[in-house]
Amino acid sequence: MAKPLSHKVIRSGRRAGDPYVEIPVAEDLAGVPGVTQEPADVAFYSREYPLETQAIDHSADRQWALVTQPQDMTDFREVQDARMEPMYEAAHHSAEVEPTGTPVPGENLTDDIRLFARDLGFGEVGFTAHDRHYTYAAKKRWARFEHAICLAFEQDYVQTQSGPGMDADRARFETYEAQQTRCMDLAGYIRSRGYRAQIHDGSDCSGPYIPLFVAAGLGQLGANGQLLSPHFGSRSRLMLVTTDAPVTYDPPVDYGIEKFCQKCQVCVSRCPGRALTRDKVWWRGVRKNKVIYERCRPVMVTYHGCAVCMIVCPVQRYGMKPVMEHYVETGEVLGKGTENLEGYSIAGKGHFGPGRLPQFSREFFDIPQGREEDWLYSKFKERLSSTDVPTASELGEFANEVKSVLDKGETTFDVA
Ligand code: SF4
Ligand code: SF4
Repeated sequence: MAKPLSHKVIRSGRRAGDPYVEIPVAEDLAGVPGVTQEPADVAFYSREYPLETQAIDHSADRQWALVTQPQDMTDFREVQDARMEPMYEAAHHSAEVEPTGTPVPGENLTDDIRLFARDLGFGEVGFTAHDRHYTYAAKKRWARFEHAICLAFEQDYVQTQSGPGMDADRARFETYEAQQTRCMDLAGYIRSRGYRAQIHDGSDCSGPYIPLFVAAGLGQLGANGQLLSPHFGSRSRLMLVTTDAPVTYDPPVDYGIEKFCQKCQVCVSRCPGRALTRDKVWWRGVRKNKVIYERCRPVMVTYHGCAVCMIVCPVQRYGMKPVMEHYVETGEVLGKGTENLEGYSIAGKGHFGPGRLPQFSREFFDIPQGREEDWLYSKFKERLSSTDVPTASELGEFANEVKSVLDKGETTFDVA
């Protein structure tokens, strides 16, 4: 039965020059623009328990991932990393590069930057404050400039739907590469207009970017923990360019996603690792569905990035406009319960249609936890619990391993 309408969201088209789209939001999906949050709590958690990058807080499983991921991905990454390294280096020092042009007093660059970025191929471009509540502790002194340009680059549709598998995972990394080169072009453009620009990587992030994208009105947070944007849902990779150029911020938008996800729940039901939660909780001052990292990570690493939660999302598969129109017309979630949307195959496990999930042993989820040095301590503690006393050479080996990890941390993560 048709649903009464709350409001319509008007957004620019998928590609530069495409006509505007109108997304209807049903009355029973209307919520707040952006995300439900308590700003004072966000500030409290940021101050007392600053966020830290996965490269530090989960360094133990990052090492484990390198030797566990499929060999074809290791081979691919070796070649791609060699190509990307100069770009990472340039991004790392991008804030120090001097402007090449001269600013014009009183100008505002919002429209020019948006147009330039859209012409480069970014599907979503938005402006907001560079909110340091969402900057990792290790990056706080590195991250510069008060304005954030939020840039979403669409990932290939066909490759993505083929996942989990190498082709879909390759699409992920190819998108990172494509957007990294374009961000360098955008930074060059901003400098040519007389201002500074800093490039924040898509893979080695300076913080969680999604809150900034939500603040800039580019989408809302889905139950899968990803940004659901109007044209490609979560099938995009996100990057930031921060700048001192004069810009105007975009407002957050209510697309109805917060309530829609509670009715949909397809990603929650289909997650092979059972890493997604049905109910929203308050977490660091924000109301959201919390992803359980320890349940997701082993699946992601073993099965080419997994991303079932992206693939089965109707907003990713069909686009937000058809999904919301269908909901207004029928009260139903487009594609829910169908093989077309929910079916997927896992290498070595078989095909899983709606209602069926793969099984994993308990040991499958037993991966190194926390920081590398913590993991070494815990392994050594295990060693101490055996009957014989560790030899002097074992003690020496343990000390050397811890020292090498700590030394590596000092050079890798001192990014000020
Ligand atoms: S990546 Fe896979 S395991 Fe992780 S949350 Fe998504 S569906 Fe679940
Ligand atoms: S699959 Fe459904 S519940 Fe999950 S993020 Fe997409 S719309 Fe939300």
